[in-house]
Amino acid sequence: MTKSQEMFQRAIKIIPGGVHSNARYISPYPLYFLKAEGNKIWDIDGNEYLDYFVNHGAIVLGHRYPKVEDAVRSQMESGLAAGYESELTVSTTEDLVRIIPHAEMARFAGSGSDAVMSAVHIARGYTGRKKILKTEGAWHGTYDYVCASYRSPLAKAGPKKNPRTIPESAGFVHEDIIKNTIVAPFNDSTALERIVKKNKRSLAAVIIEPIVHNSGAIMPKESYLKSVREITEKNDILLIFDEVITGFRCAPGGAQQYYGIEADIGTYGKAIANGYPVAAIVGKKDILETSGPDVKSSVGGFGGVIYGGTFHAHHLAVAACKTTMADLKDGRVAKHLNNLTQILAKGVEEISKDTHLNMRVDGLGGEFTIYFTDHSPSNYREAITTDSGNGEKFLSLQKYLQSNGIRLLPRHIYHHGFSYSHTKDDIERLLRGIREWVNQSPK
Ligand code: PLP
Repeated sequence: MTKSQEMFQRAIKIIPGGVHSNARYISPYPLYFLKAEGNKIWDIDGNEYLDYFVNHGAIVLGHRYPKVEDAVRSQMESGLAAGYESELTVSTTEDLVRIIPHAEMARFAGSGSDAVMSAVHIARGYTGRKKILKTEGAWHGTYDYVCASYRSPLAKAGPKKNPRTIPESAGFVHEDIIKNTIVAPFNDSTALERIVKKNKRSLAAVIIEPIVHNSGAIMPKESYLKSVREITEKNDILLIFDEVITGFRCAPGGAQQYYGIEADIGTYGKAIANGYPVAAIVGKKDILETSGPDVKSSVGGFGGVIYGGTFHAHHLAVAACKTTMADLKDGRVAKHLNNLTQILAKGVEEISKDTHLNMRVDGLGGEFTIYFTDHSPSNYREAITTDSGNGEKFLSLQKYLQSNGIRLLPRHIYHHGFSYSHTKDDIERLLRGIREWVNQSPK
């Protein structure tokens, strides 16, 4: 029995599934880890892996990145944890507003889900409308009103151009979500325009993952994001860019900068502090101000939209954020991540050409997926039906790579990733592993 197996048996008694986030559970048991450094990770059995998971994409610079660790260590000296504002929390917000194009104000949040929840509350408070539109296959965290139609079973998903809203969880008030969360297909601006127009009077915002990484890496078609902006603007509806994955990876200012789109609100998490737990909501001044306290009241009090959290702007995470931003802002990191993503995609294209398998890599900014198909999926339904719909080839590849010290998460249409600490050699090692797997797999 491995140490991970033993740990799982211990964990399962007191932690549902043996993990603190369901996505970490892997059948028959998850691996438990000991340490991470740079581009590598070690499990408790002493196995070393070249890491292509990078904390769900949160590690953008590298594990235990010296500058970030130094900043956190020296911040510890101040004794400030959470619950206080300081020069650090103000100046780091200034950094965010500077690095993210069109941002006028920002506020820290506890996690990506928390930031998205507040973005939705603010959009509703600002517009006085209730409904939110999301795209099928996108994940925006666990907030009820956006946690729908992420992994819709196709038999229940409704028409392709008019998907049904399928809440993702028990414990949600399904009838409320079905009424107030509208779903549209990604990459189809005609369908979007029709659905937006139909719901115009009650629609507060459209929330979008600019690249649908939560169904792998569904890339936006040329000018699709521009149409989304035009349609929302024309119909007086707010546009929320959920940049929890894309944020700071493809460009210092994320997908807004990369694709030249001006969203009304942006949500950020993961890479924002190289793995330390903090997130942010960023946007136009008049919109974000709806979430402020009542500054006319002598004790602050509450303004319009509620906003708060004990751990918001935790000083250790904010110190990590400040240092991470300082390293990202000149574009060097994004350039490296984009270059390596391209090298990986080209390499897999070559392997695919030489073999009996249709496989391809889509992605940007060091977040990518391996699809088993001959073309890039343009929406959730195309993505979920690749690789026999069950990911059998990918899972076989993942198993082979893992046994050779390269770790991707064993999930069909999941986003994998790497960091600034990964090198061209690391990408070549991954490509060699993929080629070896292809060569040894049955024809
Ligand atoms: N938005 C997107 C696009 C995400 O990928 C995620 C998490 O994977 C979230 C929001 C939620 O973030 P968190 O897991 O920090 O709550």
